[in-house]
Amino acid sequence: MESENDDAKALRQLILATELRLEKLKNELADVERRSSPNRLTEGQDELESLKDSKWPLTPDEYLRYGRQMIVPSIGIQGQLRLHAASVLIVGAGGLGCPAAAYIAGAGVKTLGIVDGDTVEVSNLHRQILHCSSTVGLWKVDSAIHSLKGLNPNVEYRAYREHLSPENAADIVSHYDIVLDCTDHPKSRYLISDICVLLQKPLVSASALRTDGQLMILNYPAAPQGSTSGGPCYRCIFPNPPPANQVVSCGDGGILGPVVGVMGVLQAVEAIKLITAGLKVSHTSDDAELQESKVLPSPSLLLFSANSPSPFRTVRLRQRRPDCFACSAQAGLTPESLTSGSLDYVAFCGSAAPVNILSDEEQISAGQYSELRNGGSKKEHVLLDVREKVQFDICHVDGSINVPFSKLQGNLDTTYPWLPETSPADAPIYVLCRLGNDSQVITKKLKESGLGDNGKRPILDIKGGLRAWKKDVDSSWPEY
Ligand SMILES: [Zn+2]
Repeated sequence: MESENDDAKALRQLILATELRLEKLKNELADVERRSSPNRLTEGQDELESLKDSKWPLTPDEYLRYGRQMIVPSIGIQGQLRLHAASVLIVGAGGLGCPAAAYIAGAGVKTLGIVDGDTVEVSNLHRQILHCSSTVGLWKVDSAIHSLKGLNPNVEYRAYREHLSPENAADIVSHYDIVLDCTDHPKSRYLISDICVLLQKPLVSASALRTDGQLMILNYPAAPQGSTSGGPCYRCIFPNPPPANQVVSCGDGGILGPVVGVMGVLQAVEAIKLITAGLKVSHTSDDAELQESKVLPSPSLLLFSANSPSPFRTVRLRQRRPDCFACSAQAGLTPESLTSGSLDYVAFCGSAAPVNILSDEEQISAGQYSELRNGGSKKEHVLLDVREKVQFDICHVDGSINVPFSKLQGNLDTTYPWLPETSPADAPIYVLCRLGNDSQVITKKLKESGLGDNGKRPILDIKGGLRAWKKDVDSSWPEY
């Protein structure tokens, strides 16, 4: 199985590399043809040559390509030329970054940089629309840029096959006019916001989980630290990160493809609006023009909720926080503190490490539990599956009882209404979840509640959860 996956991955990489090589050869051929018959200009060259003497600022192809947006009154030729000169950085080539990149590339920016250190997985494809089955296993940035080149070959694409980090952030971000945060973790949100404050870059930030999303334009106008004419930064809105154990990723919490798509598309809308309006960057702390104009955009948070009868809501946000760590006059954030690593974003946001709160005696392996089910000493027991119901409905082990973690974690009903009445008072309870973290928490909680009756009723956690069950017991178990 493993080696088949490796073979498939190697073949996909070879196919993509061959396609890129073919593209390069075609360009080389065009060059050779042009040199061998100087009078016969190739199509692209023809356009470039004609543009030199042309009184028109765009090529004929560009007038055609962007015509439908250029005739929108708020864009016009002025807006198109601003797009033509703009460089945009997208951090994250996932559910937000893919649709955002497609529309921004399609709109005709000059340069589009994409940062992502992950590779494409099958479970990404329902929402990350630039990737496809044939690019599974490749770098997301390579897969995305391959699609984008088909969409608009006129844009200069730059690939960063790495995660944005305090060490590389300034080098990368400094080349761009505007940044889109398309990542999915607080630690990258704080880092991206901080570097945008330091380098005075406007930031379009979005997030999505399950059927909800949110969007903010931050640090716009982009003004120096301490300036009151600048827009708020991420730390102004969220001075403290959420507790690490409450951060739910799309992988754990689930995400509806078009919901994150809506948010990514809205990021593209906002970026295009800012660029075509002429990005406002204030270089002094009391920029006269900005102060005078008094048309500072009022910062707001857009909330999208797919299941709500009115899915879009807007909440007004305050201007910069006077004591903000990043953007205020008393800011502790400096370029040195960011790049030197003295600001530890991982420690600041915490990390939800795998749970390890039980002793070996309080756990049983998936294999041991399976033997116990099938073996001669088949004993009456309770198998408690603490995944959320929606996951339990996808697949569950025969005979298991489902009581979701979210219900058990709150005030525990110590009448244990879920225990079968016929179950003997000493029947062991085995607790199971997806990965073996939540089940440990519940095992501990049930024991502490007295259900174990001082050891008369064993309560054991099935180590490694259903992932271990698939690996050691039932290889046909559907992994989701
Ligand atoms: Zn701030």
